[in-house]
Amino acid sequence: MDYLMFCDYCGMPKPIEEHIMREYFWIASHVYCSHCEIANVIPDELQSLALEMRDDRYGSKD
Ligand SMILES: [Zn+2]
Repeated sequence: MDYLMFCDYCGMPKPIEEHIMREYFWIASHVYCSHCEIANVIPDELQSLALEMRDDRYGSKD
């Protein structure tokens, strides 16, 4: 399923595809609004969720 982030500035919802979340969110700190192009901070919850998704797919490293 896709996740939704809402822009802090214009309020536009931005759908985040699962693979974007898994491959990108754990290492990124911001995501750009597709409407006003302002960088929104990725919330900690989504970052830890992204890390979990990564662990599920690739196994945790160490
Ligand atoms: Zn925006």
